[in-house]
Amino acid sequence: MDKLISIVVPCYNEAAALPYFYGEITKQSDVMKDKYGADFEILFVNDGSKDNTLSIIKEYAAKDARVKYVSFSRNFGKESAIYAGLKYSAGDYVCVMDADLQDPPSMLCEMYEAVANEGYDCAAARRVTRKGEPPVRSLFARLFYRIINKISNADIADGARDYRLMTRQVADAVLEMGEYNRFSKGIFGWVGFETKWIEFENTERVAGETKWSFWRLFLYSLDGVIGFSTAPLAIASVLGFIFCMVSFIMIAVIIIKTVIWGDPVAGYPSLVCIIFFVAGVQTFCIGILGQYLAKTYLETKNRPIYIIKEKNIGE
Ligand code: UDP
Ligand code: MG
Repeated sequence: MDKLISIVVPCYNEAAALPYFYGEITKQSDVMKDKYGADFEILFVNDGSKDNTLSIIKEYAAKDARVKYVSFSRNFGKESAIYAGLKYSAGDYVCVMDADLQDPPSMLCEMYEAVANEGYDCAAARRVTRKGEPPVRSLFARLFYRIINKISNADIADGARDYRLMTRQVADAVLEMGEYNRFSKGIFGWVGFETKWIEFENTERVAGETKWSFWRLFLYSLDGVIGFSTAPLAIASVLGFIFCMVSFIMIAVIIIKTVIWGDPVAGYPSLVCIIFFVAGVQTFCIGILGQYLAKTYLETKNRPIYIIKEKNIGE
């Protein structure tokens, strides 16, 4: 039996990049059909695009039986698109790939060899350079990976992209994680399995613009921390403990000073500083609690991860 490879492509406003992507992926599909006898299924997930991404996808679907699509009722985010893609994919192997050709389709051969012949469950791409990226962004990215790997039990590789080819088993494991706050990098690390890392040079997108502003990336990294670690909550308790200790010492010092030297003029300025400082630390800790509460709140609502408006595949 020939193996089927599903290529899951989350698309949000990718009308400019899609023609290049479709050209490349179909070329790759032909190459792999010849080389391994593998069949392709290209599953586009239209994540509520505002341009004509959907009509372009439909055009491809009309002339090419390999093309499947699922279209959301609005923009749910890439994480939701990946989830829906995994769910609707039928392949023995599933690959998640961006539509902007930043994930070179030519790497698929090496990835396929890894999972089909070398016994790996997953083959994932990792950037070794961050060429073409603003230096501040690279710096913060490095910092983020260092911190999250210290404080969480999900193994999250620096420079790892969402570009990966996995066996059906891994895809099903990821689908088992039906959480609403999805942080894919963490989820893929959390499920485990044997992953082969394939390194490549960063390439810039062929057309269109990145959807990730610095601010959005920052919020995303907070999602990652909150989703995969409870360390910030521990920080809150530790801070509270330290401040109790400090206050005990201060009380002791003041009592001793009063007993020995009498009661000199109270230090009003230092008092104000201390009040501000302690209030700041308290608000910060309540903020951390609030973040976890907010995530818990959203999680308990049990809302669907995505809503489909139309698609050309069955359940
Ligand atoms: N994407 C998506 N929904 C979103 C944002 C992005 O499906 O809300 C898709 C996008 O179309 C692309 C992939 O996710 O195929 C990666 O997005 P982008 O290239 O903007 O991210 P970057 O490569 O800069 O990290
Ligand atoms: Mg990109």
